[in-house]
Amino acid sequence: MELQIRHLSKTYSNGVKALDDVSLDIPKGMFGLLGPNGAGKSTLMRTIATLQEPDSGSITLGDLDVLRSKTEVRRRLGYLPQEFGVYPKISAYDMLDHIAILKGIGSHRRELVEELLKRVNLWDVRKKALGGFSGGMKQRFGIAQALIGDPQLIIVDEPTAGLDPGERNRFYNLLSEIGEQVIVILSTHIVEDVKELCPQMAIIDKGRVLFSGSPADALQGVHNRIWTSAVSRESMPSLVQELPVISTRMVAGQPVLHVYSEQQPADGFKVSEADLEDVFFTYIKGHKPAEQA
Ligand code: ADP
Repeated sequence: MELQIRHLSKTYSNGVKALDDVSLDIPKGMFGLLGPNGAGKSTLMRTIATLQEPDSGSITLGDLDVLRSKTEVRRRLGYLPQEFGVYPKISAYDMLDHIAILKGIGSHRRELVEELLKRVNLWDVRKKALGGFSGGMKQRFGIAQALIGDPQLIIVDEPTAGLDPGERNRFYNLLSEIGEQVIVILSTHIVEDVKELCPQMAIIDKGRVLFSGSPADALQGVHNRIWTSAVSRESMPSLVQELPVISTRMVAGQPVLHVYSEQQPADGFKVSEADLEDVFFTYIKGHKPAEQA
């Protein structure tokens, strides 16, 4: 089972081209869709989830034509949207039970709801109102509802925004467990999400796929081309003007410039071991690393 996206394009009525000829092959396991805000991630997620139409292109899930078999796709889909609204006064148990009824779960509903609450570690708070849940608890509840009905495809849109490090870790563990059996697409602007979880990934910006492959392939493409140097705050503005700077990171209060270059860009710069964040900014800044050129 694989999700195949071919030549998907979408321009909104205000003229914004949110998807520009997007093609991707998404296998079983966790797939990271990484892009800055406004890249087109939500548009792509909503299109795959059959909630909106593209202007052109096709999507298939196994032998299923996603854009033409919406009901069947929805039956096989678990979706955790960016804004996951809950009824604040209803308990986790009752809400999950209610969603299970809506999804057509008849027999074994009680067992299913109980099992899911345990699986996402909300069993102890199952009788508490959802309105009092933390961000992380709400996201774990969101995963529980997305898992009802044994989906083959799970879409989670920007799930870790606003979570504290502990909550984020619990959420990672939960997702990676699920990701072993089904296709899970994780859309995010947070590089760490992809680094921790995803054996396959894509980078998108301005509606276009800039890279698609494994994180290791992505790193290979910038190998020996990321140069770094700690610099003074005073010299920073002119260096940023002169050099192909991809990012500035603060290390112990001092700015460190990361530059993409085939040769040493200036005195004092050392070639450094690239990480996924370097890869991300290399593509976002419009460079074309070796393997992809
Ligand atoms: P992301 O999820 O990566 O932040 P989106 O898919 O939400 O990106 O948005 C992609 C682009 O399309 C942005 O420029 C956004 O402002 C625009 N956009 C999104 N939804 C709409 C809409 N309903 N109408 C007009 N423009 C939209």
